[in-house]
Amino acid sequence: MKTYIPRSDTVEATRWYKHGDHPKVEKRLIRVGGIQTKYCIFCRVLMELHGCLKHVIVCPGDWIVDGESVYSDDTFQEDYMEYDGDII
Ligand SMILES: [Zn+2]
Repeated sequence: MKTYIPRSDTVEATRWYKHGDHPKVEKRLIRVGGIQTKYCIFCRVLMELHGCLKHVIVCPGDWIVDGESVYSDDTFQEDYMEYDGDII
């Protein structure tokens, strides 16, 4: 897992592409507004290729931050940058 630094704190982040990429992202039947759709309304990728983290849909390419939060790539890239130094 790589380390990224935000403007105010240091976090661990993993970019999620498929089931198994992060232990907290679950594979489950996803319904949007009570309706099971074939394609994601956010990214238009097949829903079966998505995961869930605490009832939040994880799209392929989303970032999992500290195992708690889901960020789209655009939002993540705005808020964080990769950090190769030592954590103090
Ligand atoms: Zn999606």
